[in-house]
Amino acid sequence: MNDAGAARVAYKTPHRGFPLTATPRLLAALVACLAPAPLVAQGIHPGLNPANRDTTCAPCQDFYRYANGGWLAGTTLPPEYASYGSFTELVERNNETLHRIVDRLAAVAPATPQTTDGKLGAFYASCMDSSAVEQAGTGPLQEELRRIGGVASSGDVVRTVARLHGSGREALFNLGGAPDFKNSVMTIASTSQGGLGLPDRDYYLRSDSTATALRGAYLHYLSATLQLLGDRPAAADSTAARVVALETALARASLTRVERRDPNANYHKLSLAAADSLTPHVAWAAFLRDAGAPKTDAINVGQPRFFRAVDSLLVAVPLADWRDYLRWHLVRQSAQWLSSPFVNESFRFQSALTGVKEQQPRWKRCLQTANFLMGDAIGQAYVQETFTPDARRRALDMVENLIAALDDRLHTLEWMSDATRAQALGKLHAFGKKIGYPDKWRDYSKLSVDRGPFIGNVLRAQAFATHRNLERIGKPVERDEWRMTAPTVNASYNPSLNDITFPAGILQPPFFDATADDAVNYGGMGAVIGHEMTHGFDDQGRQFDAAGNLRDWWTPEDAERFKTRAGLVAKQFDSYTVVDSVTHVNGRLTLGEDIADLGGLKVAYAAFQRALARGARPHDIDGLSPEQRFFLAWAQIWRSKSTDQYLRNQVTVDPHAPARWRVMGPLSNLPEFARAFHCQEGNAMVRPDSLRAQIW
Ligand SMILES: [Zn+2]
Repeated sequence: MNDAGAARVAYKTPHRGFPLTATPRLLAALVACLAPAPLVAQGIHPGLNPANRDTTCAPCQDFYRYANGGWLAGTTLPPEYASYGSFTELVERNNETLHRIVDRLAAVAPATPQTTDGKLGAFYASCMDSSAVEQAGTGPLQEELRRIGGVASSGDVVRTVARLHGSGREALFNLGGAPDFKNSVMTIASTSQGGLGLPDRDYYLRSDSTATALRGAYLHYLSATLQLLGDRPAAADSTAARVVALETALARASLTRVERRDPNANYHKLSLAAADSLTPHVAWAAFLRDAGAPKTDAINVGQPRFFRAVDSLLVAVPLADWRDYLRWHLVRQSAQWLSSPFVNESFRFQSALTGVKEQQPRWKRCLQTANFLMGDAIGQAYVQETFTPDARRRALDMVENLIAALDDRLHTLEWMSDATRAQALGKLHAFGKKIGYPDKWRDYSKLSVDRGPFIGNVLRAQAFATHRNLERIGKPVERDEWRMTAPTVNASYNPSLNDITFPAGILQPPFFDATADDAVNYGGMGAVIGHEMTHGFDDQGRQFDAAGNLRDWWTPEDAERFKTRAGLVAKQFDSYTVVDSVTHVNGRLTLGEDIADLGGLKVAYAAFQRALARGARPHDIDGLSPEQRFFLAWAQIWRSKSTDQYLRNQVTVDPHAPARWRVMGPLSNLPEFARAFHCQEGNAMVRPDSLRAQIW
């Protein structure tokens, strides 16, 4: 689920370069240049590095360590990263390419650019102009701060929230245009719970030491930022406590992340009149108008209980607290683009949250912002330089092979009745495929960009993106539009569109390499593709039909059989721990991703076998059979080092299990893996039949 209430699942949670206002469109970034020399030049066969292994560890006991132990022993976590591995290495290679592009464009960008390239160049140049950023201070926010200071009624609070939403800043809850879950061809107004500064509602409510420490760091961050705005220390401390009290009330009314995995729990489409009676202090027609949305007659109020609580708080909470809450969220969401004292406080909090030790260099932060706010401008230039039509064709071939393999699986799946099977096959063959880059790039002609100060460009770009989203309300969904930018090292499935997306950023080594053997490409990119396809059939995705509508197409018996099998996966992941012996993965939170990994590997392996059958059997490489290389490719993709804080936060907020368990979990369920490595019953990598999860 994204914040506007539309279900959407990604392969991996994007790394967060900037604190708190991170969005799924942010690019990850990395420390120094870590782009490896070409592997062939190092005498290593493309795709896999045998030296990454720890061969003293038996593959049937701990395959993650067997595959990555050498790399883990030889790698230090770079101080600019809370988590680091093959994804970040690839992001870093992409960064080098993007850096060259924006540097070149920035050098020639005019003062008032008209072309997309000119605008991207000026945008990046203004971000890099740190002295102008320091001089601008909070100047561009002063007008909004003054208006917030004048809030004198609960009606003013609501109007301010609407205005902030209209300019791309969020407060109190989320708002946007999104596909109607039950009429997926139309965009409807959609609002959902939100308004928190900490990354999860549980952090306000839990009493363990991690949550307590985090609340302390957050209070400090809040107070320090208010002091930068001119508040006296004692007053800032007490204001911070009152803002956190308000947010705690919002947190208490919020659904948990696990509760939010149920699409029906997030779908409450109401007429505006019905929404008004749910929240008597918010008149929704006026609210939408004030946010700049077109006239409409209905809205999805994602979580009614939360909005009833908001309505009570509008009356119960003193206006002074509301003014401080709004002021804080305005500045919090701009902090990363303000002068260095604001940036530093923001980073200090990020550091407490994730354990990251150093900020990334400015150019990387500027690249991320450009990718976030002008993603199709940077994507267009990136694709021209890195992605050929031939690469796109090869990726599409692979997708078709995976679809054929899943088609096969669906035809032979023993636990599913023919009635459900027919629907599942229909859904599979209706998949939309987005590969490499969009056919139509976003038009930036109405976005005004200049050479600075940077915050002005950011505010205009945020308003531009928000306007674009809101104006869709009441109109047909634009199915061809991309929700990820082309350089993104990630992939996704969107249940409302029933489509899969593989940006150019991930269609390269170690995921996909035209010079590597099939084993490596199917164990890497093939499994990624299978993963996204399986999302269409995971515990969330299976609730949407071929047309992307939330509709139950399962026979009750098949649904029960699915749930029993999924329950085994949830229980399996619940038992996995991180950092210590009590902090564990939340198997109900990661269920969709775990099912997708399991199904993705199963289908990719079947497709790989079909590819092998088409020609002469390849020779072993480095003493490894093709089947062994397939599983090694998957495991090496997940090599990763993380701070303890990162892992603790990950199991709270991330629907993806930590990297180690994305290797150990699915492989220990797969007989194909056990066969490839000659594992025996009783080995740690072989789950007993009674516990073995098999779904797709
Ligand atoms: Zn996923």
